[in-house]
Amino acid sequence: MIIMTRRERAIRKRRRFILSVLLVFLVIIGIIVSVVSCGKTKGKSEEKETASKASERATSKNEESSDNEASSVDENAEKIVDTSTVNGLDKAYKNLMLVNGKNPLPDNYDSEIRKDLVEIEPELRNNNYVTKIHKSVYPYITAMVRAAQADGVNLKVWSPFRSYADQEALFRKQVERVGGDEELAATVVARPGTSEHNTGICADFNMADDAFENTPMYEWMKENAEDYGFILRYPKDKQSITGVIYESWHWRFVGIDMAKKINKSGLCLEEYLEKNNLKQEISIDNF
Ligand SMILES: [Zn+2]
Repeated sequence: MIIMTRRERAIRKRRRFILSVLLVFLVIIGIIVSVVSCGKTKGKSEEKETASKASERATSKNEESSDNEASSVDENAEKIVDTSTVNGLDKAYKNLMLVNGKNPLPDNYDSEIRKDLVEIEPELRNNNYVTKIHKSVYPYITAMVRAAQADGVNLKVWSPFRSYADQEALFRKQVERVGGDEELAATVVARPGTSEHNTGICADFNMADDAFENTPMYEWMKENAEDYGFILRYPKDKQSITGVIYESWHWRFVGIDMAKKINKSGLCLEEYLEKNNLKQEISIDNF
């Protein structure tokens, strides 16, 4: 039997006390650590949740915006698809902008108008150099050419939109052709910035040539172009007003209602707008 002295017992007791204090201390530390780390984990998972919610929101936002995009693309597609008949084409049209030698286009027009051009299908045109038309006119011109072709008439778009540079090249060529007389050249080929072709809302058909007048295409256009919103822009006896020679091949889009009214009046565009006080300021905002 081990007999402990009083001193030894006291030391033992103190050791036990210190050990149990240490143990309690460790347990408390352990509890604190676990509580803190649990809090941190919770924070992290909340963060995670927030991030995932944000990403969900972003995804749904993206979906929403791509839905919007899709629907606007669909709308266009609908417009573009529905061109085989005149049904569904608006009769009213607000762009009656008058562009001629006295009313040139603003400098920024070329770059602005290019944003709104649409390519005409190859089977509807006979020119691979200039192929685009303003999107507001696209359904009408394509419906018209398809209708003519369905009637057995070989109507094709020859020259729709022309850029400032295209027009300049044409004008320079014409100036050369007439021996350097710019004024004379301008009665046949408009100076750049003063040509309706720079607006994208008119077109020459089949050929830019007097021979067009004696074709079935011209006959068809005289009968039917107004049903699609087009008028003969430079009639035979109006050169003194339009400043441009008679051009059987050049047709301007003014909208179906307006085309019928103008034809009924027997006036050219300049006269009709003047008489009815319909002159508009030249601006890209007219579209
Ligand atoms: Zn023309």
